[in-house]
Parts: sequence; C-alpha cells; structure tokens
Amino acid sequence: MTIGILGGGQLGYMLALAGYPLGLHFRFLDPSPQAPVGRIAPRITAEYADLEALEKFAAGLDCATYEFENVPVAAAQFLLERIPVYPAPQALEAAQDRLSEKTLFRGLGIATTEFAEVNSFEDLDKAVQLIGIPAVLKTRRMGYDGKGQWVLRSGEDVAKLAAAFPDSALILEKFVPFERELSILAVRSSAGETAFYPLIENHHRGGILRLSLAPALHVDAKVQAAAVEAARRLLEALEYVGVLAIELFECSGSILANEMAPRVHNSGHWTIEGAVTSQFENHLRAISGFPLGSTAAPGYSAMLNLIGEAPDSVDVLAVEDAHLHLYGKALRAGRKIGHITVRAATPQQLAARLARLPDFFQRPEFCLDAALEKSTKPF
Ligand code: AMP
Repeated sequence: MTIGILGGGQLGYMLALAGYPLGLHFRFLDPSPQAPVGRIAPRITAEYADLEALEKFAAGLDCATYEFENVPVAAAQFLLERIPVYPAPQALEAAQDRLSEKTLFRGLGIATTEFAEVNSFEDLDKAVQLIGIPAVLKTRRMGYDGKGQWVLRSGEDVAKLAAAFPDSALILEKFVPFERELSILAVRSSAGETAFYPLIENHHRGGILRLSLAPALHVDAKVQAAAVEAARRLLEALEYVGVLAIELFECSGSILANEMAPRVHNSGHWTIEGAVTSQFENHLRAISGFPLGSTAAPGYSAMLNLIGEAPDSVDVLAVEDAHLHLYGKALRAGRKIGHITVRAATPQQLAARLARLPDFFQRPEFCLDAALEKSTKPF
C-alpha cells in the first residue's frame, strides 16, 4: 500500500518512520527541495497548487493525507477526484479559518471563548464594545506559532491599530485568563472506530511549543471527559478519518477549545515512546483501514522541542529513558529541528530524570520549572 503525504516536514518524516514497519510505502509532495523526508522517501518538489505535479503525485497511490494544514483545499479536492483523501477536505477547510473553526465549535456545543468577525477598524470598535478588553485580535488564516496576533489590553492598543490596520480578514477573541494550556489527540478510523489519548499539558514561549507533559497531571476526571466529548463531536460531525488535535485552555475547572489541527500534532510527539501506539502509527492505521492501537500511556513523559539549536547527543542519551529525535533540518533561529522525550514510571522519577538533563535544557525557555513543580506537588 502506498500513501501520499502533502507536506514533507518533520511530521511527514515521523509518519513514514512509523509506517515502514507496517509494510506501508510513502510518496511526498512539498515545495521545498530541503524537506526532511527527502532522506527517507521519494518526494516530488512542487507547489501544492501545481495540478500537473498533483496528477503525477496521485498516480498509483492508495490514498493521500497531509501533515500541513495550510495545504490549499483545492489541492485536496483535486486529489479526492482521483483517490481517497483523509481526513476529508472539509476538515482542512474548517481548520484553516479561525472563524469557521470557532463557529463549528459553537454549533457542536463545544465551549470556546467569545469571538466576533472583524473586517475593518469600525468592526473592531464594535467587537471591542461587545466582547470587552483584554482581547486578542488574530488573522483568520495562516497564523501559526503566535504569528498574526495582537493582544489588546487598553483603548490605546485599539486606537494604535487605526493607523496600521492589518490587511486581512480577522477575528477578535476574548482574552482567556487560563490556568494552563492542554491538548487532546483523538483518532477515528475509516470503519468509525475512535480512540483518545490522555490530556497533555503544554508550555509555550514566544508562541512556540517548548514542553509537553503527558499525561497532564492533576486533571479532574470531568475535564478529561469534557475534552473527549468535544473531540468525539468533531470526529463525528466531520466524518473524520485520522488523528485530530484540539488545543484547549483550562480555566476554573472547565475547558475552552482554542483551535484544532487536522493532523498529527507537536504535542503528541511523546506518544512515540510514551504511549502503547504512537499518534503517527494510529494516523496511518486509521487511514489504511487497520484496527486502531491502544492510546494508553503506561508511564509519564516530557517532550522538549529543540528550536534552532541542538544539544550534545551524548549528554542527552546518557540520561536514562531519554530519547533523541533529530529531523535532519539545517539549524536556523526559531526552527523546530528536533525534540527529546524523557520517560519514567512516576511523576517524581520523571522530575528526577529531567533534573539530570544537561545544562542546555536547564534554561528558562525549556519551562522545566513548571514540569518539576507539578511533578512534585502532592496529588
Ligand atoms: P493560537 O495561534 O490560537 O494557538 O494562539 C497562540 C497562543 O496565544 C496560545 O497558545 C495561547 O497561549 C495564546 N492565546 C491565543 N488565544 C488566546 C486567547 N483568546 N486568550 C488568551 N491567550 C490566547
């Protein structure tokens, strides 16, 4: 069976690595000649909108999927006329636009922050009256890792935007004073089977994910159940096939959905070593018509992203149950070039192992203080 993947970054790379033991073959399409998957799979270098390249890409494939959610919906539709595409382009369409995404959440009874459509400074003024301040103004499309966002804390912040109003469709969201950020990964197979990973706690710096702790500690059973229910509603409404990630804010014992990603997700990298079946394998099982694997986490994991710099491999691998993943990308500031996962049997053992990581990781941007504080707090 040969699966085509749109996007050839680290997510595609880890999908292929998970798929080879299952006897699957891969073909990638990515606009960059430096895409990491070039090391391990055949790849077509072309723009996603290049119909001739898409035609060549689709020939002989059993199905296609994506590892990048900003693939043009038209490219996914073009492929769907030739081969099955999972998840269906409607999921891609909903996730690409923050307004459709939040409207979908609301329509399904999934709690989300208050929001309003903004297309002009006058709209912004009205939306601020309605929603109040503090609020976050975001571009509806193509925003990622905190890009295309303005936090408005005062009337002055709003007034400043009058002179340089962003030239794109926008959404204003009420600022959520969350206690922490969580995510849930869910998977649905083409036969309709579903499975849910335990909630994950995420820490960001400068809008980029730095640390994920899984399972998240001190999670109320009601919060886990609400996250599973939100994911179940989305999977069913979208007739979703594959892994879906939902980013959540935890706020006074309840959750609000912030956004979803119709693909495997950075906050799920820990599942490679930390869950019975990784998110990558389960995505492939789901789209290949195989039974899903268990999403249970037998122990506790911490995943730390390597952004723009790599530690000494020897120092990482000297720590018990520490695992290193380098994606084969050139070092560049702000770029995710790899990650490490540290695993342990108990939260306390995890804290001890994290404390043994080299100095490289003991800097504030790795957010390890947060991990250590939660792990040693009594239950
Ligand atoms: P996003 O691109 O929507 O994932 O936003 C990036 C980050 O900005 C999130 O991970 C949060 O830390 C923060 N953020 C986004 N939306 C809000 C909001 N409505 N209230 C408070 N913080 C937010």
